[in-house]
Amino acid sequence: MTERPEDVLLPIYDRALGQFGDTAQGALWPNAADRQLRFDVMLDVLDPTDSAPVTLCDLGCGTGELLARLRERGMTHVRYVGVDRSELALEMARAKFPDAEFHALDVNAEGANLDLVACDYLVANGLFTFRQGLSQAEMRDFLERSIRAVWPGVRRGLAFNVMSKQVDWEREDLFHASIDDMAALLHSLAGRRIRFRADYGLYEYTCYAHRGEVRQADAAGATPALDSGVVPVLRPRLPRAEALLPYLRRMDASRTYSNFGPLVREFESRIGEKLGIPGDCVGSAGSGTAALAGAILASAGRGEARRPLALMPAYTFVATAVAARECGFDPVFADVDTLSWMLDPQTVLDHPALDRVGIVIPVSGYGRLVPQADWLAFRDRTGIPVAIDGAASFEALCMQPGRGIGQIPVAISFHATKSLGTGEGGCVVASDPECVARATQAMNFGFRHSRDSGGPSINGKMSEYHAAVGLAELDGWRAKQAGFARVVAEYRRQAELAGLGARLFTAPDLCSSYVLFQCEDPAQGQAVQTALQSQGIEYRIWYGLGLHHQTHFSTCERASLLNTDAIAPCLLGLPMAPDLAPQQISRVIRALVAALC
Ligand SMILES: *Cc1c(COP(=O)(O)O)cnc(C)c1O
Repeated sequence: MTERPEDVLLPIYDRALGQFGDTAQGALWPNAADRQLRFDVMLDVLDPTDSAPVTLCDLGCGTGELLARLRERGMTHVRYVGVDRSELALEMARAKFPDAEFHALDVNAEGANLDLVACDYLVANGLFTFRQGLSQAEMRDFLERSIRAVWPGVRRGLAFNVMSKQVDWEREDLFHASIDDMAALLHSLAGRRIRFRADYGLYEYTCYAHRGEVRQADAAGATPALDSGVVPVLRPRLPRAEALLPYLRRMDASRTYSNFGPLVREFESRIGEKLGIPGDCVGSAGSGTAALAGAILASAGRGEARRPLALMPAYTFVATAVAARECGFDPVFADVDTLSWMLDPQTVLDHPALDRVGIVIPVSGYGRLVPQADWLAFRDRTGIPVAIDGAASFEALCMQPGRGIGQIPVAISFHATKSLGTGEGGCVVASDPECVARATQAMNFGFRHSRDSGGPSINGKMSEYHAAVGLAELDGWRAKQAGFARVVAEYRRQAELAGLGARLFTAPDLCSSYVLFQCEDPAQGQAVQTALQSQGIEYRIWYGLGLHHQTHFSTCERASLLNTDAIAPCLLGLPMAPDLAPQQISRVIRALVAALC
């Protein structure tokens, strides 16, 4: 067989696979999260209203990761067939999925058995994005020959991606194609039944050609698969195993598993970059609660007889009170503002127990920013230390570091249910590295420069394992954010159409992992809960009815909590996930509408 220009690509792919193994990098993708996003965009070619069995051919399937995605999404009606030229990749694919069908095939070879790629839908993900060693024209020719070769066997639709020309600069090793050019090619195959998607935040776009009617996820009615079954309230998505591997391998080499190893240090500095502060202004922690305990101990030490109280909002997650107790304080609850759902420094000034308060802990309500300036003024005026529970406020701090980060330490959570997650994890941030160092000392047995315990402490360190998750999560953060943004936009669109827009609270006002619906009164709250339950839609009252309703804290001192009592039963957490489907959102909105009329 004569060498064709595209034959230079196969050894390049095989080399990457040999070097990086079965990972995103091994498939020449920059990171795992973007790769997942591409899979989902490819699967957009399927008719979402039809759950009858279909065959999907994955041309250039590599190690078959698209099949993993299909299974993860529960798309059991799709029969997967993987096709690739690389024996090495196919060997790995077959080892992972012994029950699936994989074929070695070069669709452009003379006499190629194209029956193997006959299917309902065909996708080619990344087959035409990388062109190292090929000229632009050779790559264009390879693309057209491949698409023309497979199209006759495609019964319903095909999809492939190429790099965009709408970029600041075009990479020499990638294939950037104009949308017009791709439109002309696809039009010659499918006439007016072609589509493009360039809305998913990457430097590429996806081309679709259909036979027959085009059914799109957003435009069509609910899919049978998504129209039944439970809609979970929060379905976190953290990096997949393959994205962790490069980091875990670094641990094999360093043999450091905790105690501020290289991965934790890198994680701190990359979190610092996102927040616009140096790495030593970020102190990693084993959880958000540990970070808060560290921040409390760094600001106020342990609770003492003269000032035994930790003042906090009654409307917060119970972790705020748990951390204060851990530091020897007795929680005392104050009411929140009806609009911000947070403590107001002016109101706290009038709190009857203020002269016995040893620390004030304002809480970022569902990720809303706690302004440093107001609490600095409070601290200067009263002399009472302040530590901020900013558990869910990572995104708000990224957006407005100048308003949110300062002398008062802020504890952030990286729990799986927060938008940026490490499983369990957290950090303390402050503008003063010395303050962060004190918090870190308090989270490390009181050790600072020696193995001498120099102050009140806990063990609240982040392990290298969790930092590995955090680093992989940061690699995919842009794509995850894009996923959340799409879901939020869809929620807002549908809520507005239903006339409920003003009652729906979402990012960027809140942390991306929360979507809240505010009912008018507790009775309506009950009606909405009943409606959601009857439709199989999970919801959560994230902060419960207030800390004073938690058994263990029910005897704590408190001032009037009228606002908390009014707000708590009305704010319902609705389903959220970076990949929540529009059909699932419309089920939620329909249930709300049904409950309200
Ligand atoms: C999530 C959360 C915490 C606890 O963080 P963990 O990482 O789970 O310990 C504390 N406070 C608030 C307000 C939270 O939302």
